[in-house]
Amino acid sequence: MSAPDVAEALEPLPWHAAQWQRLTARRQAGNLPHALLIAGPAGVGKTRFAQRLANALVCTHEDPAARPCGACQACHLAQTGVHPDLFWVTPEEPGRPIRIDAIRELIERAALTTQASGERVFVIAPADALNRAAANALLKTLEEPTEASRMLLVSSAPYRLPATILSRCQRVSFRPVPPEQGREWLAARGVEGDLDAALAASGGAPLAALAMLEEAGLARLEGLVDELAALAARRADPLRTAAAWAERAAPALLADLRRVVADLVRLGAGGEGRRLYLPGRASDLQKTADHINLQKLFHFLDEVNRLERQLVNNLNPQMLTEKLVNDWLSLTRPEKR
Ligand SMILES: [Zn+2]
Repeated sequence: MSAPDVAEALEPLPWHAAQWQRLTARRQAGNLPHALLIAGPAGVGKTRFAQRLANALVCTHEDPAARPCGACQACHLAQTGVHPDLFWVTPEEPGRPIRIDAIRELIERAALTTQASGERVFVIAPADALNRAAANALLKTLEEPTEASRMLLVSSAPYRLPATILSRCQRVSFRPVPPEQGREWLAARGVEGDLDAALAASGGAPLAALAMLEEAGLARLEGLVDELAALAARRADPLRTAAAWAERAAPALLADLRRVVADLVRLGAGGEGRRLYLPGRASDLQKTADHINLQKLFHFLDEVNRLERQLVNNLNPQMLTEKLVNDWLSLTRPEKR
């Protein structure tokens, strides 16, 4: 159980303001729900929101509106990840499940009296990583909340959570961030590169756009456009492409593939005017889309979505990418054009 990087946790993100104000009002009125589900697309800062809220709940500043103050002892402890009443429940490694042992530890701690603040806060991130046994164990705690214990569940994929858990959480929803607001935030941080392209490619998720700009993610995504076109035109060696894809983390590869194929579907369906992930590559994408049966393209997108929704880390990467390349080749078979 450890907190993520906390250096910037207290800096409010501008697109969180409305949700923050609503929760602050409820907190001050003393009717904050026991369990919150903080949901929305990946890369809009949901975990940061949870961290800031958790910090506000343990902060001891006398003015509730000023919490988290960032200056009191509780805030220092929270920011260094050692506050005795603030617990993070996370997978041992990203992409792995949260197991029942972690929830048993949570239940034990929830039963203790609080150390300092009178509030005990648990952040479960990502909550959709809970395996079935862990989710069932958590459900019992949600059904019988102990006084002064607060559960903050964070998820980009709430559809993966059991309905029984969803029904016991009050939802705090985040939407894709408007391009103007995302651009302003990135520019204020002195980020260089094609901000608009990164924001579009991230689907309106500024933190994901930032990571993309810092880690050459945009180039990888555009490379995928070229690789798919080369495979479709039978200009690339399928095994070599599959091997190159297998070098990448499967979730990132599938997320990139989903974006490119979603753009192909939009363009294939004649939706030029609609928002694309890769607007700068629209004409290249259109050329590829023109040669593919739209129905089959939809099926391929469904398959990519299905694979992405599974926990794909357990799949053999080589088998996964060879399957994807083969599916793509059969979709783009020349005689079917
Ligand atoms: Zn404080």
